[in-house]
Amino acid sequence: MEAARRRTQNRTNGKASDSTETSAQWGRAWEVDWFSLIGVVGLLCFAPFIVFYFVMACDQYQCSITQPLLDLYGGKTTLFSIWARAPSFSWSAAKIYSVWVGFQVFLYMCVPDVVHKFLPGYVGGVQDGARTPAGLINKYEINGLQCWLITHALWFANAHYFHWFSPTIIFDNWIPLMWCTNILGYAVATFAFIKAYLFPTNPEDCKFTGNIFYNYMMGIEFNPRIGKWFDFKLFFNGRPGIVAWTLINLSYMAKQQELHGHVTNSMILVNVLQAIYVLDFFWNEAWYLKTIDICHDHFGWYLGWGDCVWLPFLYTLQGLYLVYHPVQLSDTHALTVLVLGLVGYYIFRSTNHQKDLFRRTDGSCSIWGRKPTYIECSYRSADGGVHRSKLLTSGFWGVARHFNYTGDLMGSLAYCAACGFGHILPHFYIVYMTILLVHRCVRDEHRCSSKYGKDWKRYTDAVPYRLIPGLF
Ligand code: NDP
Repeated sequence: MEAARRRTQNRTNGKASDSTETSAQWGRAWEVDWFSLIGVVGLLCFAPFIVFYFVMACDQYQCSITQPLLDLYGGKTTLFSIWARAPSFSWSAAKIYSVWVGFQVFLYMCVPDVVHKFLPGYVGGVQDGARTPAGLINKYEINGLQCWLITHALWFANAHYFHWFSPTIIFDNWIPLMWCTNILGYAVATFAFIKAYLFPTNPEDCKFTGNIFYNYMMGIEFNPRIGKWFDFKLFFNGRPGIVAWTLINLSYMAKQQELHGHVTNSMILVNVLQAIYVLDFFWNEAWYLKTIDICHDHFGWYLGWGDCVWLPFLYTLQGLYLVYHPVQLSDTHALTVLVLGLVGYYIFRSTNHQKDLFRRTDGSCSIWGRKPTYIECSYRSADGGVHRSKLLTSGFWGVARHFNYTGDLMGSLAYCAACGFGHILPHFYIVYMTILLVHRCVRDEHRCSSKYGKDWKRYTDAVPYRLIPGLF
């Protein structure tokens, strides 16, 4: 599609600069090449089996991911016998999962946020999202922290007083639950796909590439909703997957206690570091409305299935591994992991906070005790409107263009290092996060470059590195 272009006046730190061309068309790709298409079809068909492979490796091979391959290669087992040994779909798992998802829908839709009324500094209740490519600004009910608190309060109340179910319930139904999450993940993606054709929420923000598989995977609608408030992205990104993350870890901890009679320091570290990350997510849910998932990605299988299946199963591999291998770390090792995790978290949070503060105050703030420096730019939305924006070049944003990802990667490395170095499986997360975030850098920069045109080039000249200064 031909991008509409206009010449516009730009400014750098308030000073007028050369006029530049700004692309009007931004957002994800409109045309799909053969290479991407093969990748898309491959992922749609095989991604569930990648997840299955990891959990099966723990269930049948004590978390060795090479042993199943060696056994298959050596003729000691067959795909059929691996499949036959794996627990299958069960109605009891389906019931547990239905209650779980139903409860999260209830909390999301029916319990308006009250936490922001008494927690100083927390932003909850009705908040504005970012401007969409069509120029719309959606409203969101932010109540994720409240849902997380209620859910976890009930979990602890059950574990200590009510005893309705065992705290190991998640671990005990892990593979049957995986089939249930797959059913929901594909159902949601398929529903969103059909809805985009038949009754889209905002037709101006739909994107059709002409390729059915790509549309299914990357989504057509930008912000699909049912009614005024049930926003698919906000619900599926945060709950049921991220609320579940800490409960899954607690279930692993309970299982380790049940099987081995004690909880190891590595299990505590993984639980604590990942709980900080999850709580941070909900504490900053309003900020999250301004991140790529909500601002730029369309809702399809990538987000729908990814949030239902990939996240709860693969982001929690460290805890799962520690159930089978109760690693007790030396004090030095444990302290190193803790420091790495906390420093990573500090960088991740401070970098995100700096951008948020800068954008919220339109640059009228202090970053590292100084007035921020920035590149002023403009862009055009699909409705033809011209808007101004600023790209921060000081604080962590002057160190590298995605230093928040660098902090995130340090935290991810800490979770993996907490499991020791006996097996590859718990280290999958850092490999995956590196691929995800490097790919995200490239994707985001491609989008920003088409959005801001020459202004983006001025920004990359001012801050030349992406993740690690001097290296990448
Ligand atoms: P960012 O929060 O970095 O947002 C990128 C956007 O910020 C750009 O598209 C651009 O948007 C704007 N921007 C870029 N540079 C600047 C600048 N210098 N000054 C001001 N604005 C700028 O990225 P994400 O949304 O990907 O990530 C948010 C956080 O979530 C990160 O910390 C990341 O590590 C984490 N994350 C975690 C994942 C996980 O699975 N654990 C997955 C993905 C992300 P605009 O169009 O507004 O200019």
